Amino acid sequence: MKAVKIKLPFGLNLNNVLAHILDVENGKKCGCVCPSCRSPLIAANNGHVKQAHFKHAVETACDGGWESTIHLAAKQIIIERKSITLSKYTSVVSGIDSMGIKHIEKKNIVPKGKVIKFDSVEEEVGLSGMKVDILAMKEAKPLIIEILYRHKVENQKILKIAEADISAIEINLSDVTPDDVLDWETFWSCINDPKRIQWLYNTRELALKMSLENQLALKIQQAEKEYEQERIKEQKRIQKEKSQLVNALKDLKVLCSSKYIAQLKKGAEIHPSWKVTRQYLPIPWQELPEFLNVEVTNGDWIFGCDRRIWQAAFYSAFICYSGKPFSIRAVDDWLQNKAGCKVSSCVKNVGIYGRLYPELVPADISSRLPSSWETLKAYFRHLQDLGMLDFLGPDRAYRGSKWFQVVSKEPKKSKNTSDSVPF
Ligand SMILES: [Zn+2]
Repeated sequence: MKAVKIKLPFGLNLNNVLAHILDVENGKKCGCVCPSCRSPLIAANNGHVKQAHFKHAVETACDGGWESTIHLAAKQIIIERKSITLSKYTSVVSGIDSMGIKHIEKKNIVPKGKVIKFDSVEEEVGLSGMKVDILAMKEAKPLIIEILYRHKVENQKILKIAEADISAIEINLSDVTPDDVLDWETFWSCINDPKRIQWLYNTRELALKMSLENQLALKIQQAEKEYEQERIKEQKRIQKEKSQLVNALKDLKVLCSSKYIAQLKKGAEIHPSWKVTRQYLPIPWQELPEFLNVEVTNGDWIFGCDRRIWQAAFYSAFICYSGKPFSIRAVDDWLQNKAGCKVSSCVKNVGIYGRLYPELVPADISSRLPSSWETLKAYFRHLQDLGMLDFLGPDRAYRGSKWFQVVSKEPKKSKNTSDSVPF
């Protein structure tokens, strides 16, 4: 085996105590032996502080010197200082509720930067069938401190520690370099660094975990209760919407009926909207032209009045009076809110809820849901055919709406009758 030159920062002196290279006489007078193989050491400390070190007096195959030294030095300094800065330790429990949402409960057992001053510290103590590096006591409570250089504490030992119910930490010194042992103070700041400390077991965790589990269970229970309430609320809303749809369909059936349309026709002349329109439109009721009495399938009743009422109102306001370009949306808005030609709420409800619950809508209605925009679109198409309107383009602000411009107040051509059925 090839001799390894190890530059040791500590040597074991005559009192069996580790001495730092800066604290001993130079050369053989140091009186120290190797902590690992116990062979004599020579102190070389007359150069730079950084280069001061012990070396074996006789070259030897000892290669455990560094590891044993760090291990010993760590124990020695903890015994001397009777203190350690602990790492934070948090107990965490988590669970998943019925909706798949994760819930977490946590509590700090050891806060960040907690410094413990021990009442006593012993090394290499045998207890509960194991040997521990350090056993420190604080108010009669023990803490096991293990020094990790190369070998982590084995799971078997952690189980024994848990069985004995003694809190334990491990200080990881595996990456200690010669720079960390330039002197005792530097080495201490390295050992006393919470980042190097890992908790192996904490006696308070079991009880705390149980209380956290209870809190977590309550939290999940509460969440699930809220889901259930939400579900019931949602069900009620759906039920309400469905019954609104059913009622709207019933009302709609009445509105579309020929009986109702006949009724509208009968009362048309005294409709309040006509009373206003006729002040601007110098055409007697009986002489209203054909283009103001256009049948629109599935919709000429939609404004809650005879078709002549809304068609005449539109014609007098948008074609005769204004003459400017207009959109379907603007005409619909004006008819409903200014001209008193209101679309029944059942039409809107069938439109909104019929799309949500199509299974409740009879096929003949669902294939073409009545709509005031569709009705106006069909009517304007008819006026286009008569040469009275021109299509300008889609309404960019409202999807489904279109722009038209007025071409003529009178029909320029008779409606193309070639596609009307001759029987
Ligand atoms: Zn040695």
